[in-house]
Amino acid sequence: MTSFPASVQEGIEFAAELFRKAKGAVVLTGAGLSTPSGIPDFRSEGTGLWSHDEPLEVASLNTFRTQPEKFYAWFRPLAGQIFNAKPNQAHIALAHLEEAGHIRSVATQNIDMLHQKAGSRNVIEMHGTLKTFSCTQCFQQTDSLPFLKPFVERGEMPRCPHCGALLKPDVILFGEQLPQKALSAAQHDCRACDLMLVAGSSLEVLPVASLPMQALDRGAHLIIINNSPTYLDVRADAVLTGDVAEVIPAIAEMVFNGRN
Ligand SMILES: [Zn+2]
Repeated sequence: MTSFPASVQEGIEFAAELFRKAKGAVVLTGAGLSTPSGIPDFRSEGTGLWSHDEPLEVASLNTFRTQPEKFYAWFRPLAGQIFNAKPNQAHIALAHLEEAGHIRSVATQNIDMLHQKAGSRNVIEMHGTLKTFSCTQCFQQTDSLPFLKPFVERGEMPRCPHCGALLKPDVILFGEQLPQKALSAAQHDCRACDLMLVAGSSLEVLPVASLPMQALDRGAHLIIINNSPTYLDVRADAVLTGDVAEVIPAIAEMVFNGRN
């Protein structure tokens, strides 16, 4: 078992107590949840993904439309990392908590499908997903799996099986609206929950960053686990600074086997 500093251990015990008492907890996860699985934060600079291109420029709808080769050249290493990634202990612990009825839903900013791979069922993907592609001409949606391997290994840009036009991954690029259905579902759950856990998100990207506020305004408890401060730390019941892949399993362990 990992041993934590006393303050973190205290926070873990407190968080576990809140989870045991909660009737419908909602979890909000960001890039930090997948970094232990080897997936860099594709919206942040300094991750190695950005050489000369600014993220706002290359990961944008505009670049995809005007220079798809440039977009796909940038996207290829990230797609490769996602293609090969496995869920880590944080994903697995959250799936166990959901299975045991302690979590209502997981709203995520990640596009990597690792929550689903870990066994989470009610996952709200607010920034889209790499699970599917959509055709830029006939708009039909198609499963990404047959296209990912040739794209990752040989750089073949994915083309629509129906009309041959270029496919776009169903991930939300800069300059694109968030999927309204996912956002509404997340808002609904956040407003109805009595406990919200934010994990691996610095809460910097709107409108997702406003979700915990909606939970707080309706009287929910808030736990934040992140390795850097967020604007809501001051309002959280507990702020745990540490590795999500260690802290979340420790909370789950205590929910299942702890005292009380
Ligand atoms: Zn098509």
